[in-house]
Amino acid sequence: MKQHYQLAVIGAGPAGLAAATVAAEQGIEVAVFDGQVAPGGQIYRAMESIPQHRGSQLGDEYQRGRELVSAFRASSAKYFPETQVWSLNGRREIGLLLQGQAHTVTADQVVICSGAIERPVPFPGWTLPGVMNAGAGQILFKAHGIVPDDGVVLAGSGPLLLLLAWQYLHAGVSVKALLDVTPMINHLYALPRLPRALLAGHYLTKGMQYKRDLKRAGISTLHNVRSLRAQGKDALQSVSFLHRGREQNLETAVLLVHFGVIPHTQLGRVAGCRHVWDESQLCWRPQLDEWGRTSVAGILVAGDGGGIGGARSAEHAGRLAALQALYALGTLDRATRQRLARNDRKWMREESHIRPFLEAFFRIADDMLQVADDDTLVCRCEEVSAGQIRAAVADGHRDSNQVKFLTRCGMGPCQGRQCAEAVSHIVADASGKALQDIGHYRQRPPVNPLTLGQLAGLHSEKTE
Ligand SMILES: Cc1cc2nc3c(=O)[nH]c(=O)nc-3n(C[C@H](O)[C@H](O)[C@H](O)COP(=O)(O)OP(=O)(O)OC[C@H]3O[C@@H](n4cnc5c(N)ncnc54)[C@H](O)[C@@H]3O)c2cc1C
Repeated sequence: MKQHYQLAVIGAGPAGLAAATVAAEQGIEVAVFDGQVAPGGQIYRAMESIPQHRGSQLGDEYQRGRELVSAFRASSAKYFPETQVWSLNGRREIGLLLQGQAHTVTADQVVICSGAIERPVPFPGWTLPGVMNAGAGQILFKAHGIVPDDGVVLAGSGPLLLLLAWQYLHAGVSVKALLDVTPMINHLYALPRLPRALLAGHYLTKGMQYKRDLKRAGISTLHNVRSLRAQGKDALQSVSFLHRGREQNLETAVLLVHFGVIPHTQLGRVAGCRHVWDESQLCWRPQLDEWGRTSVAGILVAGDGGGIGGARSAEHAGRLAALQALYALGTLDRATRQRLARNDRKWMREESHIRPFLEAFFRIADDMLQVADDDTLVCRCEEVSAGQIRAAVADGHRDSNQVKFLTRCGMGPCQGRQCAEAVSHIVADASGKALQDIGHYRQRPPVNPLTLGQLAGLHSEKTE
């Protein structure tokens, strides 16, 4: 590994692969750092190693990634898999953990393509063994062919939940029920956005096809489910919920939940990039210009990490960010940058038609986001409950950081990845303030766990 690159790309999903390939084509030195063992990111995970039958069970969207991954492999970009980026600062110094050793490198331009995480929504029992995110279930399936062998209950809201139900159906997994917590009222809010969504009608058609296939297979979908609760002594035994005013109970050892995805913003925040509250996507995202430039010189963000747009959009955003980086490096002139960007801009516009509809349709109910039950753990690393957070607000602590200092929520190994959003919602609700005024946890390195020994190793590497 060199000490310095002209361009560093963090993340090898659609955005990062596209950015690195375009930049490398122009002959500059590109390094790609990614935590996974192989390129593909979330959607195209294990693309190069997956057996054919499992690949087709995942559907045709998954197959689209093949070309992207091959083009990246054929490029001159230097690829560092299994490499965690634990730090990034405004001088574009990047902290890496590779094969258990910490390193730092610098770059003239950095494109963060860290993608999305599933929106963590704490509910009673969510920390019981047997309760996992739907994305985790999908990762096990894509990467290792592991599926629940004794049936599964899926719960939550959003396209990914439907997709996983469909993928499980094709893999022969018994889906005992799909509990849809999407509030019925959302249909009303989404309706005015439908005409524009029809311009990207293929997404709607696909969604309908999934629903039709699930119905034909006899998988029962219960809509407008409320008061979701996972139950069990030491591990999950059953799920209870309200449906049509009646309390119901389903026995299951595996519950996979999903409440949409939000941008994975830790690296941009640790680098000091300005972030804004997005009321439509209900999340914080970096403030970006049309090329993906952040408020910090030389740092760009592309893909879902900059705001949820989906895999195809991420690919286009990755290419645009690379063109901007090439322009900043003096490799492309302004006119060439504009010309090469035209096609990607057009496709990004096409892709954007579906988003407002999806955001309104799958919006999670406020009472779920605000974690109504006081006993529910919100920060699972430091074991801080919703009630303790509300008590901190009642004591006069009125923003996320004050609550963090008082309760230690967000100070554990995940550095707030799992609780930051829920804390913002609880504090806003309890204090009567707007979400954008509550703020987000201030982020400090390392964003991924690092031992003191590894940090000390970094020092000796520098002094040798
Ligand atoms: C769990 C999950 C599953 C999904 N499955 C699907 C699906 O099946 N179909 C679909 O259409 N959409 C899916 N999505 C949405 C999909 O991820 C995106 O639309 C698309 O992949 C975004 O591409 P991207 O390049 O922005 O990010 P991603 O594809 O998410 O790629 C980001 C990459 O950055 C890496 N990374 C992040 N932080 C660091 C760090 N600190 N150090 C090193 N590497 C880092 C990640 O390991 C990952 O490889 C899923 C999302 C999630 C969260």
